Amino acid sequence: MRMPLDERAFFNEKPETRSARYQCPRCRRMGEFRIRWVRRLKKQSAPPGADEADRRKFAKLRDYLLRLDDEVVCPSCGKKFEIPSHHSLMFVDQLAGLPDEEDLEKEIAAASGEPEPARDAKPALPPRFTRKPTGWK
Ligand SMILES: [Zn+2]
Repeated sequence: MRMPLDERAFFNEKPETRSARYQCPRCRRMGEFRIRWVRRLKKQSAPPGADEADRRKFAKLRDYLLRLDDEVVCPSCGKKFEIPSHHSLMFVDQLAGLPDEEDLEKEIAAASGEPEPARDAKPALPPRFTRKPTGWK
């Protein structure tokens, strides 16, 4: 018996910073925050060692973004609060149309028949990770 390949074997990862506006729950001020994500881009082909099941899985995968940050700190009052969105995963092909949260919710619910791509995939940042603003707005 062999373990199925780790999800991460199918993707190339690229750190990414995106800005987002949230309201502080304490002082109610809107702030703009730099949120760290990792972009997972599907590899050209299934990795070596992929068996039939791995290849089937690979065929269904899509590029996505996984949010690394869960909390932000309000620049006005210093309150640390949780990012008020439970969407920590976005498919890259959805970004073009900038779906609102509700659409995303439905999409995720619809996709939940599949094994969740990122349920326990909360990667530790590699040591070489450096934060570089990438100009996302
Ligand atoms: Zn505040």
